[in-house]
Amino acid sequence: MYDVIIIGAGPAGLTSALYLLRANKKILVLEAKSYGGQILNAHKVENYPAIMSISGYDFATNLYNQVKNLGCEIKYETVINIKEDKTVVTKENEYHSSAIIIATGAASRKLNIENEDKFIGKGLSYCATCDGNFYQNKIVAVNGGGSTALEDALYLAGIASKVYLIHRRDEFRGEVKYLEALKKLDNVEFVLNSSIISLTGKEHLEKITVKDNLENIREIIVDGLFVAIGQTPNNEIFKNVVDLDDKGYIIANNDVYTKTPNIYVAGDARVKDLRQLTTAVSDGSIAATEAIKEIKK
Ligand code: NAP
Repeated sequence: MYDVIIIGAGPAGLTSALYLLRANKKILVLEAKSYGGQILNAHKVENYPAIMSISGYDFATNLYNQVKNLGCEIKYETVINIKEDKTVVTKENEYHSSAIIIATGAASRKLNIENEDKFIGKGLSYCATCDGNFYQNKIVAVNGGGSTALEDALYLAGIASKVYLIHRRDEFRGEVKYLEALKKLDNVEFVLNSSIISLTGKEHLEKITVKDNLENIREIIVDGLFVAIGQTPNNEIFKNVVDLDDKGYIIANNDVYTKTPNIYVAGDARVKDLRQLTTAVSDGSIAATEAIKEIKK
């Protein structure tokens, strides 16, 4: 029997762990893949207060080491259900606790076009920091108009010979600072008002086809495509204990409370206006503190 089970070892979940361990609570962190969550994809983090610049990997590893030094128990198991009596069910086991913090974040949104799955790892990637290095002096495209796409394009422009930045509008929602830097690079070509409609290649991705708002079709020869079109949550499995909005995010009251007492949500998995590292760790600390109060009662 644990005091709190945390589902997800990204910044929100590990921050909850940090606060709970410092309050001497018996906790278990369950993680399906690897610690760190989406911040692992960030080449550099430069908007976290008091840290000038740090890679996403280093940030995640520092936080992981911080909780491990406090004795954090982490099991790499995939959660498939939370029962109404708060039993957390994984593919392998069942665990019991007084409180649960859901910090499962969100996964990369897919293009949802033919051949997408076929080319994953064969020219198609959702993580420039992870896979960019395979494209030394090659031709790549980045799809998206948020900060992730802009940052990815900047990062890849330093590795690849040419980067096409494909975006469905002509305005970017990503940070102006990145956009300005991209505009100065002569190996970056903007392909705007355009959507990717097909991916082709024998074994490996060789060509993408885009269609613009005027229905013009263009074929672009590439070695790699990096898709950075945002994230989608994966909260369906929690539907019996939380309410979801129409996009699948967990509806939270007072930041972290779900509809079920003693089940909290922290980070990108919940409905919120700003999904950032700062807001994820903020949620993690609030959820832990609320759980501690409830356990005391
Ligand atoms: P995002 O801000 O949600 O941007 C997603 C982009 O993909 C948008 O430009 C959107 O186009 C486009 N898009 C969405 N669905 C699409 C589809 N089906 N086909 C084609 N394009 C599609 O996602 P993000 O860039 O991953 O950023 C997520 C959050 O992390 C943001 O809050 C961001 O500020 C933050 N972030 C911060 C940093 C940093 O501070 N260092 C770095 C990366 C990310 P529209 O614009 O037309 O909707």
